[in-house]
Amino acid sequence: MTDSAIEQSQRHDALHEHGWLTESSHQTSEGRVIYVRCAECGVRRVDLQPHPLLPPQSLSREQG
Ligand SMILES: [Zn+2]
Repeated sequence: MTDSAIEQSQRHDALHEHGWLTESSHQTSEGRVIYVRCAECGVRRVDLQPHPLLPPQSLSREQG
């Protein structure tokens, strides 16, 4: 990824609240790992949900 592409994606991040869609998920000993993608800009993120009743926590920084 070039520097200008990173700048563009950071600018884009500021423009909207990401609308995360679940692409896939699987159960691990640590909890449920959920791969999500923003429907608007395509940024991907990995979340970990330690318990079904707890909200997922971001494992990774957003990356396009
Ligand atoms: Zn987005």
